[in-house]
Amino acid sequence: MEIDGNALAGDLSEVFATDATVAVFTCAGCGHAGAVATLRVWGPAPGAVGRCPSCTDVILRLVRTPSRLILTLTGATRLELPLDA
Ligand SMILES: [Zn+2]
Repeated sequence: MEIDGNALAGDLSEVFATDATVAVFTCAGCGHAGAVATLRVWGPAPGAVGRCPSCTDVILRLVRTPSRLILTLTGATRLELPLDA
């Protein structure tokens, strides 16, 4: 099942102190930059895979185990998180 990056909001809120779906990623594959909320997400089991909406390369993987939340961002060259004003 494919959904959008807003589905990652709950799990990512445990990794970042702010809403990470508004963070801007830069794709390592094509250079596209966009909000995490615009990722094309496949999941949720056994983990969520967020793909670039431009080239479909994998930007992030988010796996929840009974004792850990594991985030890999190997498909992103950059992640910009807004600071609270
Ligand atoms: Zn891309």
